[in-house]
Amino acid sequence: MEQMIPVVDKNKCSGCQACVNICTHGCISMEADGEGFLYPHIDHARCIGCGLCRSVCPSLRKPDMFVQQQVYAARHGQMEILLKSSSGGVFSALAEEILKEKGVVFGACFDERYRVFHQWVDNESDLDKLRRSKYVQSDIGQSYRQAHEFLEQGRRVLFVGTPCQIAGLRNYLNKDYAHLLTAQLICLGVASTGVWQRFLRENFPSTFPQEINFRKKDGGWSRYFLGFRVGRQWVAHSQKQTLAEKIFSFFSMTPAFVFHNLFLRGYLAGLFLRPSCHLCLSKDLEKRMADVTLGDLWGEWPDILTPKNKHEGVSFLGVNTPKGAEYVRKSGIKTMEIDARQAMLHNPAIFRSCIPHAKRSEFFVRWRKEPLNALLRELLGIKPFCVTLVKKIYQRFFDGK
Ligand SMILES: Cc1cc2nc3c(=O)[nH]c(=O)nc-3n(C[C@H](O)[C@H](O)[C@H](O)COP(=O)(O)OP(=O)(O)OC[C@H]3O[C@@H](n4cnc5c(N)ncnc54)[C@H](O)[C@@H]3O)c2cc1C
Repeated sequence: MEQMIPVVDKNKCSGCQACVNICTHGCISMEADGEGFLYPHIDHARCIGCGLCRSVCPSLRKPDMFVQQQVYAARHGQMEILLKSSSGGVFSALAEEILKEKGVVFGACFDERYRVFHQWVDNESDLDKLRRSKYVQSDIGQSYRQAHEFLEQGRRVLFVGTPCQIAGLRNYLNKDYAHLLTAQLICLGVASTGVWQRFLRENFPSTFPQEINFRKKDGGWSRYFLGFRVGRQWVAHSQKQTLAEKIFSFFSMTPAFVFHNLFLRGYLAGLFLRPSCHLCLSKDLEKRMADVTLGDLWGEWPDILTPKNKHEGVSFLGVNTPKGAEYVRKSGIKTMEIDARQAMLHNPAIFRSCIPHAKRSEFFVRWRKEPLNALLRELLGIKPFCVTLVKKIYQRFFDGK
């Protein structure tokens, strides 16, 4: 009979897969639960009870964290790379430096069905696969083992992931390597793979998009656009549509165009995040899991977040170790030191877990039985466009608002 690793509270399991990577008998596999998240399952017929899986689990043994040293606003020097990145392109700058030193870069990419998984690259032409945020949980696979092999061969490694994945990697390695650079994302949480796949099937029933970009910058970086390329056309929606966009999408009548911002709205509202994301072990005011922290720069920074920069993207870059500082310097990325407290105040995901949406449980009771778009609209309280329009006209002309 198969069951989860004994002792681990399911609500605390981040799905980091350190247990899967460490098991030398190959008796742990990941299986999706009813909410569409992967959890480890043990084949007890093959398990010898060595306890290695428990010894590397970050929910049972959290690695020591590093005290954040400096925080910068940062941007990649090349406009082409900046526009291809989710924020200010710090990931690309660090990755380029590691590749220059003949190293290997680990990050998350899509497969042909837009499932998200971790992969390594060792040349610049493949780097674009790893660029950009995918707000769905990435499947680590055997990445910790592969990183370990490269490190033992003496190659430099950059490993990018959510803080729980960096914790999983560090526990798996169980020692520090001078030639390993870790980068954690500021992380709101990861969305359910099951919900994402269902969303794609419902909105693109016949042809899958040729490309997906969770942070398409065409309409402005700070507005959160989720873009889908269908044929040669990009259809993109911000999570907050302007009235003109609503009218346009209403008359275009294609389901993809009308509905695809629903996923981002549900994600940002905490409707279908992994349970452990609401109890994240890595949230802290001062300490971080990795050498550097990558995120968006939010807040009021009149000299930095100019209208032009707001359009193109600026990164929050936290430096947490001397090694992190060395790589930031070597990468040549443009930085400006900023007040850490103010930067964090506008980006609470760095120190506080996201609160689950009040209707999260209801969502997961109903999501497999009902059409997803309609359910998202109902639970997120999104009124049909015509109702919003009539209400706006009424308020403008009769309510004096
Ligand atoms: C799930 C998730 C939640 C996030 N939440 C926040 C937030 O609340 N606040 C904030 O400021 N920033 C958040 N970020 C980070 C932000 O979106 C950017 O990824 C970050 O600023 C790096 O941008 P960049 O321009 O330097 O690099 P990019 O070129 O955008 O590179 C992004 C990096 O993240 C890796 N990555 C992408 N998707 C995943 C994934 N699912 N799991 C693990 N690694 C992944 C890529 O491999 C790449 O290394 C989040 C990112 C993710 C993936």
